Amino acid sequence: MPLIEVEDVRKVYRMDGVEFEALKGVSFTVDKGEFVIIMGPSGSGKSTIMHILGALDVPTSGRYALDGKEIANMTRDELAHVRNRNIGFVFQGFNLLPRMNAMENVELPMLYAGVSPKERKAKANQALELVGLLEWAYHRPNQMSGGQQQRVAIARALVNDAPLLLADEPTGSLDSKTGAQVMEMLQSLNETRGITVVLVTHDSNIAKYGKRIIRVLDGLISSDESEEKEEKQV
Ligand code: ADP
Ligand code: ADP
Repeated sequence: MPLIEVEDVRKVYRMDGVEFEALKGVSFTVDKGEFVIIMGPSGSGKSTIMHILGALDVPTSGRYALDGKEIANMTRDELAHVRNRNIGFVFQGFNLLPRMNAMENVELPMLYAGVSPKERKAKANQALELVGLLEWAYHRPNQMSGGQQQRVAIARALVNDAPLLLADEPTGSLDSKTGAQVMEMLQSLNETRGITVVLVTHDSNIAKYGKRIIRVLDGLISSDESEEKEEKQV
């Protein structure tokens, strides 16, 4: 069973009485352990797809199942529960709380999930160690570089053991070297821990970290290609 099943999803936005069809019938599946890149020009529907995958929004029609659970007809509370248990989010702007240190930011999803303080500390420590930031646990976001902040956000995304990590332009605020380091970290988490990653980017240098690229154009998938990565020796 695939982790993600999207079938003929349409999304219609209504604004000032005008309807706009942002997704016009999108279908794809993602297996557990895949690393998928979504690319496409601005306005093509990438964020709309990510919001639906993230159970932040529901399709106007069509099916979405996550780990076998049908999402399309869930209530807001049920969607929130699915988000908490199954999905880690990483955004372009890091979205860390400025008045909390790295440790407290990483603990937040566990606070919402009702995990005990002792276990929160232990797991937050583990997650910060995984992203190489244990020494920065008691620093606030504004004392850290962009790359470090994004690594805190990755630790936060992983701490509930979510099987799916959704990243919307996670390197968009970083210089190319730091962006590459963040992508290598995501790649390594995908390979060593089997976390499924779906990542939106504009940047073809970033896209090369994925094993599969889904291209979106005007609300439709225009191509969906998996690269067999050959080790070419010169
Ligand atoms: P992308 O992420 O590829 O830039 P989006 O999914 O954000 O594309 O948007 C796709 C289209 O849907 C765009 O034309 C955008 O203007 C429109 N759109 C997105 N969100 C809304 C909304 N909440 N209300 C109305 N139109 C929207
Ligand atoms: P955009 O698609 O315009 O770039 P973002 O990707 O930054 O916007 O955020 C998309 C939406 O997801 C925002 O409306 C934000 O409120 C919401 N959001 C961000 N983080 C979470 C979260 N952890 N849980 C639920 N909703 C979130």
